Amino acid sequence: MKIDFKVAFLVLVASSHLACVDAWWSKPTRPSVRRPPPPQRRCALQYYKGSEFTKSARVHTGFLSSMHTINSYAQQCRVRVYITSSYRKTAHVKGAIVPPATRSNHMIGHAIDMNLIDRRTGKFCNSRCLPNSSRPNGVSCFIGKIRSHPTLRWGGDFRRSDPVHIDDATNHRNRALWNQLYNSLQKNCP
Ligand SMILES: [Zn+2]
Repeated sequence: MKIDFKVAFLVLVASSHLACVDAWWSKPTRPSVRRPPPPQRRCALQYYKGSEFTKSARVHTGFLSSMHTINSYAQQCRVRVYITSSYRKTAHVKGAIVPPATRSNHMIGHAIDMNLIDRRTGKFCNSRCLPNSSRPNGVSCFIGKIRSHPTLRWGGDFRRSDPVHIDDATNHRNRALWNQLYNSLQKNCP
C-alpha cells in the first residue's frame, strides 16, 4: 500500500509538471475582437463616378451627396460632366503641419473642376465656353441649377472668375472643419 501511494504521488507530480509545461507553451487565449483602425488613420476619400460623368472624381465622403446632386443636375439638363480635377495633394513642403494661406476646397476633396458636353448639340464646353452667353442650353441649365443650390457654388461667380470650378464653400462656411479635414486627408491619403 505504501508503494502504491508513492507511485500515485509521483504520477501526480509528473502530470502537474506536464500541465505547467503545456500552459507555458500554449499562448493565452484572448477574445478575437477585430477593432477598426482609429479614425484619424483612415483616408476618407472615395472615387465617385456618376452616370453622367466621363470619369471618376476623388472626393471626401462628406462631399458625396453633393456629387449625387451634380450628377442629377447633369441628367436633368442633358449634359455630360468631364472632370479635369478633384482632390489635390498639397504642394506645401510642410504638408499638413502648416495649412496654406489660401484654403482651397480641392485640398479637402470638396471641389471639382469640370468641362461640360452638351448632349443635344454634342458641343464640348470648356473654360471659355462655360461663362459665355452663347453657350448651349444644356450648359446654361446645369449652371443655373448649381447657382440656385443652397450650398453649392459655381466658380464663374467668384471675384476671380473660375468657370470650371464647383464647390460647397466649406472654406468659408466652416473653417474649423476645413482645417480638420485638411490635416486628416493630407496626412492619411496618398
Ligand atoms: Zn477648382
